[in-house]
Amino acid sequence: MSFAPPPMPTGLPPVHVNLYSDTQSKPTAAMKAAMMEAEVGDEQAGTDPTINALCDKMADFLGKEAAMFLPSGTMCNQIAIITQCRPGDEILAHETAHILTSEGSGAAALAGAQITGLRGPRGQFSLDTLRAAIRSKSRHSPPQRMVEVEQTANSGGGTVWALDELNAIADFAHERGMVTHMDGARLTNATVAAGITPAEMVAGYDTVWLDFTKGLGAPLGAVLAGSREFIGQAWRWKQRMGGAMRQGGICAAACIYSLDHHVARLAEDHANARLLARGLAQIPGIIVESPETNLVFFDTTGTGIDAWTLNERTRKHGVGFSVNMTWRGRACTHLDVSAAQIEEAVAVIRAVVAEGP
Ligand SMILES: *Cc1c(COP(=O)(O)O)cnc(C)c1O
Repeated sequence: MSFAPPPMPTGLPPVHVNLYSDTQSKPTAAMKAAMMEAEVGDEQAGTDPTINALCDKMADFLGKEAAMFLPSGTMCNQIAIITQCRPGDEILAHETAHILTSEGSGAAALAGAQITGLRGPRGQFSLDTLRAAIRSKSRHSPPQRMVEVEQTANSGGGTVWALDELNAIADFAHERGMVTHMDGARLTNATVAAGITPAEMVAGYDTVWLDFTKGLGAPLGAVLAGSREFIGQAWRWKQRMGGAMRQGGICAAACIYSLDHHVARLAEDHANARLLARGLAQIPGIIVESPETNLVFFDTTGTGIDAWTLNERTRKHGVGFSVNMTWRGRACTHLDVSAAQIEEAVAVIRAVVAEGP
Protein backbone atom coordinates (compact mmCIF):
# COMPACT_ATOMS: atom_id res chain seq x y z
CA MET A 1 0.00 0.00 0.00
CA SER A 2 1.40 3.35 -0.99
CA PHE A 3 1.06 6.49 1.09
CA ALA A 4 2.81 8.72 -1.43
CA PRO A 5 0.37 11.32 -2.75
CA PRO A 6 0.56 12.18 -6.45
CA PRO A 7 2.19 15.48 -7.45
CA MET A 8 0.10 18.41 -8.66
CA PRO A 9 -0.91 17.82 -12.30
CA THR A 10 1.23 20.63 -13.65
CA GLY A 11 3.60 18.54 -15.73
CA LEU A 12 2.23 20.07 -18.91
CA PRO A 13 4.20 22.03 -21.51
CA PRO A 14 5.70 25.30 -20.21
CA VAL A 15 3.71 28.41 -21.03
CA HIS A 16 4.55 32.02 -21.69
CA VAL A 17 1.18 33.35 -20.52
CA ASN A 18 0.97 31.82 -17.07
CA LEU A 19 -2.48 32.30 -15.58
CA TYR A 20 -2.11 29.20 -13.39
CA SER A 21 -1.57 31.14 -10.17
CA ASP A 22 -0.11 34.33 -8.74
CA THR A 23 2.17 31.99 -6.76
CA GLN A 24 4.16 31.46 -9.96
CA SER A 25 5.38 35.02 -10.38
CA LYS A 26 9.17 35.32 -10.19
CA PRO A 27 11.08 37.79 -8.01
CA THR A 28 11.98 40.94 -9.96
CA ALA A 29 15.57 42.14 -10.38
CA ALA A 30 14.96 44.96 -7.87
CA MET A 31 13.55 42.49 -5.36
CA LYS A 32 16.59 40.24 -5.79
CA ALA A 33 18.85 43.24 -5.24
CA ALA A 34 17.03 44.02 -1.98
CA MET A 35 17.58 40.39 -0.94
CA MET A 36 21.28 40.56 -1.74
CA GLU A 37 21.70 43.58 0.49
CA ALA A 38 19.70 42.25 3.44
CA GLU A 39 21.28 42.40 6.86
CA VAL A 40 20.86 39.01 8.47
CA GLY A 41 21.28 37.37 11.87
CA ASP A 42 19.82 34.28 13.53
CA GLU A 43 16.05 34.29 13.42
CA GLN A 44 15.70 31.38 15.79
CA ALA A 45 17.55 33.43 18.39
CA GLY A 46 15.42 36.48 17.60
CA THR A 47 18.35 38.40 16.17
CA ASP A 48 17.73 38.63 12.44
CA PRO A 49 17.26 42.40 11.97
CA THR A 50 15.47 42.13 8.63
CA ILE A 51 12.95 39.57 9.90
CA ASN A 52 12.41 41.68 13.01
CA ALA A 53 11.84 44.73 10.79
CA LEU A 54 9.34 42.82 8.66
CA CYS A 55 7.44 41.61 11.74
CA ASP A 56 7.28 45.14 13.20
CA LYS A 57 6.12 46.51 9.87
CA MET A 58 3.46 43.82 9.56
CA ALA A 59 2.18 44.25 13.11
CA ASP A 60 1.65 47.93 12.24
CA PHE A 61 0.20 47.15 8.81
CA LEU A 62 -2.35 44.77 10.37
CA GLY A 63 -2.93 46.76 13.55
CA LYS A 64 -1.90 43.89 15.82
CA GLU A 65 0.50 43.74 18.76
CA ALA A 66 2.93 41.23 17.33
CA ALA A 67 3.78 39.19 14.25
CA MET A 68 5.79 36.15 13.22
CA PHE A 69 7.52 35.25 9.95
CA LEU A 70 6.76 31.81 8.54
CA PRO A 71 7.72 29.97 5.36
CA SER A 72 4.17 29.70 3.99
CA GLY A 73 0.54 30.60 4.39
CA THR A 74 -0.39 27.02 5.12
CA MET A 75 1.94 27.09 8.10
CA CYS A 76 0.28 30.34 9.31
CA ASN A 77 -3.14 28.68 9.20
CA GLN A 78 -1.91 25.53 10.87
CA ILE A 79 -0.04 27.32 13.64
CA ALA A 80 -2.99 29.66 14.29
CA ILE A 81 -5.28 26.63 14.55
CA ILE A 82 -3.04 24.47 16.69
CA THR A 83 -2.19 27.33 19.04
CA GLN A 84 -5.87 28.12 19.64
CA CYS A 85 -7.74 24.83 19.29
CA ARG A 86 -7.61 21.75 21.48
CA PRO A 87 -8.29 18.24 20.18
CA GLY A 88 -12.03 17.88 19.64
CA ASP A 89 -12.66 21.57 19.05
CA GLU A 90 -14.72 22.70 16.09
CA ILE A 91 -13.81 25.37 13.54
CA LEU A 92 -16.56 27.00 11.48
CA ALA A 93 -15.46 28.02 7.99
CA HIS A 94 -16.89 28.18 4.49
CA GLU A 95 -17.16 24.76 2.86
CA THR A 96 -14.68 25.83 0.16
CA ALA A 97 -12.14 27.27 2.64
CA HIS A 98 -8.48 26.52 1.94
CA ILE A 99 -8.09 25.08 5.47
CA LEU A 100 -10.82 22.56 4.62
CA THR A 101 -9.95 21.67 1.03
CA SER A 102 -6.25 22.23 0.53
CA GLU A 103 -4.11 21.74 3.63
CA GLY A 104 -3.92 17.94 3.76
CA SER A 105 -6.49 17.84 6.60
CA GLY A 106 -3.93 19.61 8.78
CA ALA A 107 -6.49 20.84 11.31
CA ALA A 108 -7.57 17.26 11.94
CA ALA A 109 -4.15 15.66 11.65
CA LEU A 110 -2.15 18.18 13.68
CA ALA A 111 -4.54 20.01 16.01
CA GLY A 112 -7.22 17.28 16.27
CA ALA A 113 -9.83 19.90 15.39
CA GLN A 114 -12.77 19.34 13.06
CA ILE A 115 -13.83 21.87 10.48
CA THR A 116 -17.50 22.27 9.69
CA GLY A 117 -18.11 23.78 6.28
CA LEU A 118 -20.76 26.48 6.03
CA ARG A 119 -22.60 27.18 2.79
CA GLY A 120 -23.07 30.43 1.00
CA PRO A 121 -22.56 31.99 -2.42
CA ARG A 122 -19.17 33.33 -3.60
CA GLY A 123 -17.15 31.57 -0.89
CA GLN A 124 -18.79 33.56 1.88
CA PHE A 125 -21.31 32.65 4.57
CA SER A 126 -23.77 35.07 6.13
CA LEU A 127 -24.22 35.93 9.77
CA ASP A 128 -27.53 34.04 9.66
CA THR A 129 -25.78 30.91 8.38
CA LEU A 130 -23.21 31.18 11.14
CA ARG A 131 -25.93 31.71 13.71
CA ALA A 132 -27.76 28.62 12.45
CA ALA A 133 -24.60 26.52 12.90
CA ILE A 134 -24.32 27.30 16.60
CA ARG A 135 -24.79 24.19 18.74
CA SER A 136 -26.17 23.95 22.22
CA LYS A 137 -23.40 23.78 24.77
CA SER A 138 -23.70 20.22 26.00
CA ARG A 139 -21.64 17.12 26.66
CA HIS A 140 -22.58 15.85 23.21
CA SER A 141 -21.55 18.85 21.17
CA PRO A 142 -18.13 19.66 19.78
CA PRO A 143 -16.81 22.74 21.55
CA GLN A 144 -17.09 25.53 18.98
CA ARG A 145 -13.83 27.37 19.22
CA MET A 146 -12.97 29.27 16.05
CA VAL A 147 -14.65 31.08 13.17
CA GLU A 148 -12.48 31.37 10.08
CA VAL A 149 -12.93 33.57 7.01
CA GLU A 150 -10.85 33.83 3.86
CA GLN A 151 -10.17 37.29 2.45
CA THR A 152 -10.31 37.19 -0.54
CA ALA A 153 -12.37 34.00 -0.82
CA ASN A 154 -10.28 32.00 -3.27
CA SER A 155 -12.67 29.31 -4.55
CA GLY A 156 -15.52 31.75 -4.16
CA GLY A 157 -14.06 33.66 -7.11
CA GLY A 158 -11.54 35.92 -5.36
CA THR A 159 -14.46 37.76 -3.79
CA VAL A 160 -14.06 40.47 -1.17
CA TRP A 161 -15.91 40.17 2.12
CA ALA A 162 -17.57 43.49 2.98
CA LEU A 163 -16.23 45.15 6.11
CA ASP A 164 -19.60 45.28 7.87
CA GLU A 165 -20.12 41.53 7.23
CA LEU A 166 -16.66 40.76 8.59
CA ASN A 167 -17.32 42.83 11.68
CA ALA A 168 -20.79 41.41 12.29
CA ILE A 169 -19.41 37.86 12.09
CA ALA A 170 -16.50 38.69 14.39
CA ASP A 171 -18.75 40.39 16.96
CA PHE A 172 -21.10 37.44 16.98
CA ALA A 173 -18.25 34.92 17.32
CA HIS A 174 -16.74 36.87 20.19
CA GLU A 175 -20.11 37.08 21.96
CA ARG A 176 -20.24 33.27 21.76
CA GLY A 177 -16.76 32.99 23.26
CA MET A 178 -15.09 31.96 19.99
CA VAL A 179 -11.87 33.27 18.48
CA THR A 180 -11.76 34.69 14.96
CA HIS A 181 -9.10 33.85 12.38
CA MET A 182 -8.64 35.39 8.94
CA ASP A 183 -6.83 33.57 6.15
CA GLY A 184 -5.47 36.66 4.42
CA ALA A 185 -3.57 34.90 1.65
CA ARG A 186 -4.78 37.67 -0.70
CA LEU A 187 -5.70 40.26 1.91
CA THR A 188 -3.99 43.09 0.04
CA ASN A 189 -5.98 42.27 -3.11
CA ALA A 190 -9.08 42.80 -0.97
CA THR A 191 -7.89 46.04 0.64
CA VAL A 192 -6.79 47.52 -2.69
CA ALA A 193 -10.12 46.57 -4.29
CA ALA A 194 -12.15 47.90 -1.36
CA GLY A 195 -9.98 50.97 -0.77
CA ILE A 196 -9.67 50.46 2.97
CA THR A 197 -6.62 49.91 5.12
CA PRO A 198 -5.56 46.39 6.13
CA ALA A 199 -5.71 47.31 9.84
CA GLU A 200 -9.31 48.45 9.46
CA MET A 201 -10.29 45.39 7.47
CA VAL A 202 -8.89 42.88 9.97
CA ALA A 203 -9.78 44.71 13.20
CA GLY A 204 -12.37 42.10 14.23
CA TYR A 205 -9.99 39.17 13.77
CA ASP A 206 -7.85 37.91 16.63
CA THR A 207 -5.35 36.34 14.25
CA VAL A 208 -4.63 37.10 10.61
CA TRP A 209 -1.89 36.49 8.08
CA LEU A 210 -0.77 37.77 4.71
CA ASP A 211 0.97 35.73 2.03
CA PHE A 212 3.93 37.27 0.22
CA THR A 213 4.05 34.63 -2.52
CA LYS A 214 0.67 35.45 -4.08
CA GLY A 215 0.11 38.81 -5.76
CA LEU A 216 2.99 40.40 -3.87
CA GLY A 217 5.51 38.35 -5.81
CA ALA A 218 8.05 37.29 -3.15
CA PRO A 219 9.73 33.87 -3.48
CA LEU A 220 8.52 32.64 -0.08
CA GLY A 221 7.13 33.76 3.23
CA ALA A 222 3.98 34.75 5.05
CA VAL A 223 3.45 36.71 8.25
CA LEU A 224 1.00 35.73 10.99
CA ALA A 225 -0.13 38.44 13.44
CA GLY A 226 -2.14 38.67 16.64
CA SER A 227 -1.79 39.56 20.29
CA ARG A 228 1.61 39.46 21.95
CA GLU A 229 0.43 36.51 24.02
CA PHE A 230 -0.76 34.58 20.95
CA ILE A 231 2.48 35.13 19.06
CA GLY A 232 4.41 34.06 22.16
CA GLN A 233 2.54 30.76 22.24
CA ALA A 234 2.67 30.37 18.47
CA TRP A 235 6.47 30.53 18.61
CA ARG A 236 6.56 27.18 20.39
CA TRP A 237 4.71 25.62 17.45
CA LYS A 238 6.90 27.37 14.90
CA GLN A 239 9.92 25.92 16.64
CA ARG A 240 8.34 22.48 17.05
CA MET A 241 7.29 22.28 13.41
CA GLY A 242 10.71 23.32 12.17
CA GLY A 243 9.57 26.70 10.91
CA ALA A 244 12.29 28.79 12.56
CA MET A 245 14.67 30.12 9.95
CA ARG A 246 18.25 31.13 10.56
CA GLN A 247 19.41 33.83 8.11
CA GLY A 248 15.85 34.12 6.84
CA GLY A 249 16.26 37.88 6.55
CA ILE A 250 17.36 37.30 2.98
CA CYS A 251 13.75 36.26 2.27
CA ALA A 252 12.16 38.79 4.62
CA ALA A 253 13.90 41.48 2.56
CA ALA A 254 11.87 40.37 -0.46
CA CYS A 255 8.69 40.62 1.61
CA ILE A 256 9.56 44.15 2.79
CA TYR A 257 10.34 45.10 -0.80
CA SER A 258 6.97 43.73 -1.93
CA LEU A 259 5.11 45.69 0.76
CA ASP A 260 6.78 48.89 -0.39
CA HIS A 261 6.46 48.33 -4.14
CA HIS A 262 3.87 45.70 -5.02
CA VAL A 263 0.73 46.54 -3.06
CA ALA A 264 -0.73 49.52 -4.95
CA ARG A 265 0.04 47.86 -8.31
CA LEU A 266 -2.41 45.04 -7.50
CA ALA A 267 -4.99 47.38 -9.03
CA GLU A 268 -3.35 46.61 -12.41
CA ASP A 269 -3.91 42.88 -11.86
CA HIS A 270 -7.54 43.59 -11.07
CA ALA A 271 -7.91 45.66 -14.25
CA ASN A 272 -6.31 42.79 -16.21
CA ALA A 273 -8.73 40.34 -14.60
CA ARG A 274 -11.66 42.48 -15.76
CA LEU A 275 -10.14 42.66 -19.25
CA LEU A 276 -9.82 38.89 -19.29
CA ALA A 277 -13.37 38.40 -18.02
CA ARG A 278 -14.76 40.70 -20.73
CA GLY A 279 -12.84 38.78 -23.40
CA LEU A 280 -13.84 35.33 -22.13
CA ALA A 281 -17.49 36.37 -21.81
CA GLN A 282 -17.57 36.95 -25.58
CA ILE A 283 -16.51 33.39 -26.37
CA PRO A 284 -19.59 31.29 -27.17
CA GLY A 285 -20.25 28.67 -24.47
CA ILE A 286 -18.11 30.21 -21.76
CA ILE A 287 -19.79 31.72 -18.71
CA VAL A 288 -17.60 34.00 -16.63
CA GLU A 289 -17.99 34.88 -12.97
CA SER A 290 -17.52 38.61 -12.71
CA PRO A 291 -14.13 39.14 -11.00
CA GLU A 292 -13.72 41.35 -7.95
CA THR A 293 -9.94 40.99 -7.69
CA ASN A 294 -7.30 38.98 -9.61
CA LEU A 295 -9.07 35.60 -9.94
CA VAL A 296 -11.30 34.86 -12.92
CA PHE A 297 -13.41 31.71 -12.73
CA PHE A 298 -15.25 30.52 -15.80
CA ASP A 299 -17.56 27.67 -16.68
CA THR A 300 -16.83 25.77 -19.89
CA THR A 301 -19.94 23.53 -19.99
CA GLY A 302 -21.44 25.35 -22.97
CA THR A 303 -18.34 24.71 -25.08
CA GLY A 304 -18.52 20.93 -24.60
CA ILE A 305 -14.83 21.05 -23.61
CA ASP A 306 -14.05 20.40 -19.96
CA ALA A 307 -11.60 22.68 -18.20
CA TRP A 308 -8.86 20.01 -18.04
CA THR A 309 -8.99 19.45 -21.79
CA LEU A 310 -9.26 23.14 -22.58
CA ASN A 311 -6.18 23.83 -20.46
CA GLU A 312 -4.22 21.01 -22.11
CA ARG A 313 -5.10 22.39 -25.52
CA THR A 314 -4.37 26.06 -24.78
CA ARG A 315 -1.05 25.06 -23.20
CA LYS A 316 0.07 23.80 -26.61
CA HIS A 317 -0.25 27.46 -27.66
CA GLY A 318 1.60 28.72 -24.58
CA VAL A 319 -1.40 29.77 -22.47
CA GLY A 320 -2.08 27.98 -19.18
CA PHE A 321 -4.60 28.35 -16.39
CA SER A 322 -5.72 26.14 -13.51
CA VAL A 323 -8.67 23.84 -13.10
CA ASN A 324 -10.90 24.28 -10.08
CA MET A 325 -13.48 21.65 -11.00
CA THR A 326 -14.02 19.59 -14.13
CA TRP A 327 -16.01 22.31 -15.89
CA ARG A 328 -14.68 25.31 -13.94
CA GLY A 329 -11.39 26.92 -14.85
CA ARG A 330 -9.50 29.58 -12.90
CA ALA A 331 -7.28 32.18 -14.48
CA CYS A 332 -5.20 34.32 -12.20
CA THR A 333 -3.59 37.65 -13.08
CA HIS A 334 -0.37 38.80 -11.44
CA LEU A 335 2.92 40.66 -11.70
CA ASP A 336 4.18 38.56 -14.63
CA VAL A 337 1.10 38.94 -16.85
CA SER A 338 0.64 42.05 -18.99
CA ALA A 339 -2.52 43.40 -20.63
CA ALA A 340 -1.11 42.34 -24.02
CA GLN A 341 -0.72 38.78 -22.72
CA ILE A 342 -4.33 38.85 -21.56
CA GLU A 343 -5.39 39.71 -25.12
CA GLU A 344 -3.26 36.82 -26.36
CA ALA A 345 -4.82 34.43 -23.84
CA VAL A 346 -8.33 35.40 -24.92
CA ALA A 347 -7.42 34.89 -28.59
CA VAL A 348 -5.93 31.44 -27.91
CA ILE A 349 -8.88 30.29 -25.79
CA ARG A 350 -11.31 31.58 -28.43
CA ALA A 351 -9.47 29.70 -31.19
CA VAL A 352 -9.32 26.45 -29.20
CA VAL A 353 -13.02 26.63 -28.32
CA ALA A 354 -13.83 27.28 -32.00
CA GLU A 355 -12.16 23.96 -32.92
CA GLY A 356 -14.96 22.28 -30.96
CA PRO A 357 -14.87 19.43 -28.44
C1 LIG B 1 -2.40 29.97 -1.25
C2 LIG B 1 -3.40 29.97 -0.15
C3 LIG B 1 -3.07 29.45 1.11
C4 LIG B 1 -1.75 28.78 1.40
O1 LIG B 1 -0.65 29.60 1.23
P1 LIG B 1 0.79 28.95 0.88
O2 LIG B 1 1.71 30.09 1.07
O3 LIG B 1 0.69 28.45 -0.52
O4 LIG B 1 1.01 27.85 1.85
C5 LIG B 1 -4.02 29.52 2.10
N1 LIG B 1 -5.21 30.08 1.88
C6 LIG B 1 -5.57 30.58 0.69
C7 LIG B 1 -6.92 31.20 0.52
C8 LIG B 1 -4.68 30.53 -0.38
O5 LIG B 1 -5.05 31.00 -1.57
